Amino acid sequence: MTMDGGPQFLASDAAKPQYRPQTELVRGAQKRSDFNETSEALYLTSGYVYNTAEEAEAAFKGEADAFMYSRYANPTVRMFEERLALLEGAEDCRATASGMAAVYTALACFVSAGDKVVASRALFGSCHVIIDQILPRFGVKREFVDGGDLNQWEEALKGGAKAVFLETPSNPMLELVDIEAVSALAHAAGALVIVDNVFATPILQRPLALGADIVTYSATKHIDGQGRTLGGAILTTKQFIKERLEPFYRHTGPSMSPFNAWVMVKGLETLSLRVERHCANAEFLARWCETRDGLNRVVYPGLESHPQHDLANKQMTGFGTLVTLNIAGGKAAAFRFLNALTLTDISNNLGDAKSLATHPATTTHQRLTPEERTHLGITDGTVRISVGLEDVEDLVEDIDAALVAALA
Ligand SMILES: *Cc1c(COP(=O)(O)O)cnc(C)c1O
Repeated sequence: MTMDGGPQFLASDAAKPQYRPQTELVRGAQKRSDFNETSEALYLTSGYVYNTAEEAEAAFKGEADAFMYSRYANPTVRMFEERLALLEGAEDCRATASGMAAVYTALACFVSAGDKVVASRALFGSCHVIIDQILPRFGVKREFVDGGDLNQWEEALKGGAKAVFLETPSNPMLELVDIEAVSALAHAAGALVIVDNVFATPILQRPLALGADIVTYSATKHIDGQGRTLGGAILTTKQFIKERLEPFYRHTGPSMSPFNAWVMVKGLETLSLRVERHCANAEFLARWCETRDGLNRVVYPGLESHPQHDLANKQMTGFGTLVTLNIAGGKAAAFRFLNALTLTDISNNLGDAKSLATHPATTTHQRLTPEERTHLGITDGTVRISVGLEDVEDLVEDIDAALVAALA
C-alpha cells in the first residue's frame, strides 16, 4: 500500500505460501503502509477516494483493482482473509461478520429453489436451523443423515444434490465425519461439499486437502481465541468466489468489520501456539476424567475409547479443544457439577482462553425434542467443556471438586 498511488494489493495472490505455516501465521499477507508500522494497521474506513473520475469509472467497471467500499473489501480485512487462506491452503477467502453469516452466505450464494442439501444431523444449532427451516422457505430441499454412517450419505445422495454440509468433530458429542469418503460420494452426486471446521480449527484439519470444496469458520472461536469479537470466514476457489460468492456477498452485506478483522489477524499470529496448548490441556483432562468416578462417559477424539479414534488419527493432526462428559445422575447431577465449578465458567461459548462449560440439553440444544437429543447422544447428564489455557492442574482440581459435588 502506498500513500498516494491508491490501493495496490486488492488482488494479490493469496494462495502461494512462501514460508512454513507458522511463519505465514505471523507474517503472511501483511500490507505495510508508507508509515512502516510493525504491526498490521487498522484501516477503520467505510469508503475510499479516487484520484480522478476516470479511476472511479474504471473501478466500477471492474477494470482496476481498487478498494471501493468496505462492504466489498477493506485492507485490514484483506490481510485477515489472505493470511487465513495461506494457512488453509485455499485459493482465497472472504471474511464475514459472524460464523453464521459465513455458513448462510456459503449456502445461499449457490443453492436455488428445487435444489437439495444433504447434511449431517449433528450440527451447531443455528446451522441446523438454516438448513432445516430457513432454506426450505425458499424452496430448497434438505435431508439429514447420521454423519458417521456412509451408507446413509450414499442413500441420501442418490438422485443428486447441490450441496453437502457437515461439521466434524460435531457439537457437542464430538462425532467425526469422514471428509474424504463423503466428498467422493458428494462429488459423484454432483454436490459441492461445505465443511464447518470450527471444532477442528485450521491447525488440526484441512478439509480442502481431503476433498471438500468450501470451508467455513466461526472466527469468534479459536481464531480470536480470547472471546472478544464475532467473525467468520469462507475459504474456497477463486472461481467459486468470483462466480457465486462475490455477487451475493457484495449485495447482501455479511462483511466483517475492519476492527474485528484486525483482532482476528492478530489472533492468527498465536493460533497454532494456543491450539497446541488447548489440545494438550484437553487430552490431559480427558485422560484424567477416564480414571475418575461419577462419569458414564468421557468423549474426546484423542482417547482410544472414542469410537472414531482411527478416523481422528487419519484426518486430524490433533484431537481438538473440547471434552464432553456424561455425568452420572442426570440433570440434577450435571447442574450440581456446573454450580460447583469455581474456575471454569458456565458459558455456551467455546474456543476461549478461559475454560467454559455448558449443559447442552438445557441451553444450546434445548430447542430439540428429547428424542432428537437422544438420537444425537446428548443426555441430561451431558456437559461440554471448552478447555482453556489455564494451568491444567488447576483445571483438574476444579473438575475434581465439581465431580465430588455432582456425586453428593
Ligand atoms: C459458533 C459456531 C458457529 C457460529 O458462529 P458465530 O460466530 O457464533 O456466528 C457455527 N458452527 C460452529 C461449529 C460453531 O461452533
